[in-house]
Amino acid sequence: MELTIRILIAMVVGIVIGLTTQFFQLPENSFLFTYFFNGLIEAGGQIFVISLKMVVVPLVFISLTNGAASLGASGSVGRLGGKTIGFYLLTTAVAVSTALLVALVVNPGLGSSDNGNVSVQTYTPAEAPSVIDTLINIFPSNPIAAMAEGKMLQVIVFALFLGIAISKSGESGKKISEIFENANEILMKLIMMIVSLAPYGVFCLMVKLGLSVGVSEITKLAAYFFTVVGVLILHGLIVYPLLLMLISRVNPLIFLKKMREPILVAFSTSSSGATMPVTMRTVETKLGVNKRVSSFAVPLGATINMDGTAIMQGVATVFIAQFYGINLTPDQYLMVILTATLASIGTAAVPGVGLVMLTMVLAQVGLPVEGIGLIIGVDRLLDMLRTAVNVTGDGTVSTLVASTEGDLDRQVFASEKVK
Ligand code: ASP
Repeated sequence: MELTIRILIAMVVGIVIGLTTQFFQLPENSFLFTYFFNGLIEAGGQIFVISLKMVVVPLVFISLTNGAASLGASGSVGRLGGKTIGFYLLTTAVAVSTALLVALVVNPGLGSSDNGNVSVQTYTPAEAPSVIDTLINIFPSNPIAAMAEGKMLQVIVFALFLGIAISKSGESGKKISEIFENANEILMKLIMMIVSLAPYGVFCLMVKLGLSVGVSEITKLAAYFFTVVGVLILHGLIVYPLLLMLISRVNPLIFLKKMREPILVAFSTSSSGATMPVTMRTVETKLGVNKRVSSFAVPLGATINMDGTAIMQGVATVFIAQFYGINLTPDQYLMVILTATLASIGTAAVPGVGLVMLTMVLAQVGLPVEGIGLIIGVDRLLDMLRTAVNVTGDGTVSTLVASTEGDLDRQVFASEKVK
């Protein structure tokens, strides 16, 4: 049976088991809970996510050095980098603007105010780092430490420099280049091995979700929840396909079909960082994006591109403002677009960080940071959905950049057969 179908089945069965168990309210200290749900299932889910994360740093380092070596030779690093970052920022700004517009029409927060009697925890807003610090911080003083700490932008910068140097080093460069190419092949095999275990990992993660998801929270926050879901769907199924059709002239249905694997993994892990190896494999082998582009665009996207997160932040800002009865001015909305776009760059590609970064957006326009307490109950599920959109965005921009650079193999893109 096809892998995606197996993942889907695992997903549905897992969530049904989880929800049923939640419904019957088994005691937390029962044998089943201790050894099965909190034992085997917990371990299975965690091991799957950890195994994916295990390949992230080596993959970014090796494949990007490799990519930069061929880019360096063609002298197109700057143009490609500018274009990729430009597309990422543009799609995020569109995402948050759509979110604000839709939220202002739907008004999810109107009528939900309880005259400020919300008893919520206090939160300290995340500090916005200065632009200069951010810039300085992407250069690693110690690349090995950057890898050990998983500082992705620093690893990206080091790999870029190293790759360019390799391309300029004649014979010695060629020898090293070959080693990196071989290592890349081996890593791709490793990713395939991990991905083939996805149905089991996803099953475990979904059982845990079914056990913990608060159905009543969703009904209470239905207006907010479904506005976010609506805009996520709009962005994923209308905006990206339109861009792909207009700029890349490809069939977006094929794109979405081929992206199913990373989308499902993103949904179940809530981490675009952990999904990155799967995205990379799909973009290269199924969508036909040349390694020179994918090795750069995919890791960069996983790190800085979070359209789904920005959408949640846009709707949440309007919801919280309406809840507290605060009117935002057009200037403040522009500020939200700017900060949410920047916040999405700073959001770590792991579960739940989007909500923490929302505090920065709220603080920027003077809204009560405590507001995030209102929406935290449904964030787990929204996190899964927005991560799926984040990852679809990475695939979209990689395809857009590749097609405009002549680096998209249209035969591979259209082919049913997958390498
Ligand atoms: N979980 C998201 C991601 O990894 C980030 C977030 O919005 O919390 O892409």
